[in-house]
Amino acid sequence: MKPKTTLPFVLFVLLLGACVEFPTKPRKAGPVISPTSNSPEAVLARSELVQARAQLGAGRPTSALLTLSSARSRIGTSAPDLLRDILVTWGDANMALDHHVRAIDNYEDALATGNVPDEDLADLYYRMYIARRASGDPKAGTWKVKVRPARPALLADLEHRLSGGRVTGSMPSRALSSGSIPSDPRALLADIRPRRDWGAKAIEGSYVAMGFVDRITVHHAACCAATSSSAAAQSLRAIQSEHQDGNGWADIGYHFLLDQNGTIWEGRELRWQGAHAGNSTLNRGNLGICLLGNFEDELLLAPQRRALQRLLDTAAGQFDVPRGRVYTHRELKQGTACPGTHLQRFMDDYRRAGTPSLALQ
Ligand SMILES: [Zn+2]
Repeated sequence: MKPKTTLPFVLFVLLLGACVEFPTKPRKAGPVISPTSNSPEAVLARSELVQARAQLGAGRPTSALLTLSSARSRIGTSAPDLLRDILVTWGDANMALDHHVRAIDNYEDALATGNVPDEDLADLYYRMYIARRASGDPKAGTWKVKVRPARPALLADLEHRLSGGRVTGSMPSRALSSGSIPSDPRALLADIRPRRDWGAKAIEGSYVAMGFVDRITVHHAACCAATSSSAAAQSLRAIQSEHQDGNGWADIGYHFLLDQNGTIWEGRELRWQGAHAGNSTLNRGNLGICLLGNFEDELLLAPQRRALQRLLDTAAGQFDVPRGRVYTHRELKQGTACPGTHLQRFMDDYRRAGTPSLALQ
């Protein structure tokens, strides 16, 4: 019986060997370091990368640069994927410090590590576009063009939803060119209620231009749930008064506010930088969206959920914001529970799934 059992066994071993080895080249002597190396130095570098991102999120880009420098010196070129993540974060830290040219160098180095997955590549191209635009490069747009083909699924999804019968009345104006900040919010979605509809007071004191939008942050008001337009208008006036008179800000901090009926209200005009994420570094280029209600305790109602998804999709499409740049407040600022457990869960699902299924629940 031996020949009968040995032959399949030998074939199995050969096949297994082929699967494992093909198509790698003959290995050199010494330890093999894979792109996801778990050497002690790589593990330390990875934890430093996490720390650097937290520092950056907390508005401490200079600390982040020091941490990243340490992480980079640990791994050299031994772990390309990790090195790329470090370089990208390095570029982000330089952007936060307005060191645009250095950031461009970092992003170029990240690209040069090679084998960048498609999703990361789109994100990297987008960063390159923002950095080059900020540096005044008139050819920055050539990088933006590269972002689109790398994200066909997102664009197709967006187009599909906007062409659906339910929201045709709210399609973005075709006259609005990609990336430009509209002076009338209804150029984004036709049913956004302008400031005058809730009796907003004028902006006052000092404020700065938004310039560009390259990220979005979602909040909850932790109060003020409103199921009628008059109640929502009253809530908005109260929030504006708290922000202007209590906090001494120029205007209501958020760009858009959503009530329980799914009505989207214009807050601070989009052409002005908001006051919502924690400090001026975090607010830069950051579109602030606030849902009325306290989602630590309350569940999102379907109309409000659908409105949020519609606004996020539209704003992300208009400003080419990748899903990885759509944040919740607690992800940017430590020590806040905003936007509450239930809205946080919605956002986690929204970014992971990227499908309209949640809106249909
Ligand atoms: Zn918040």
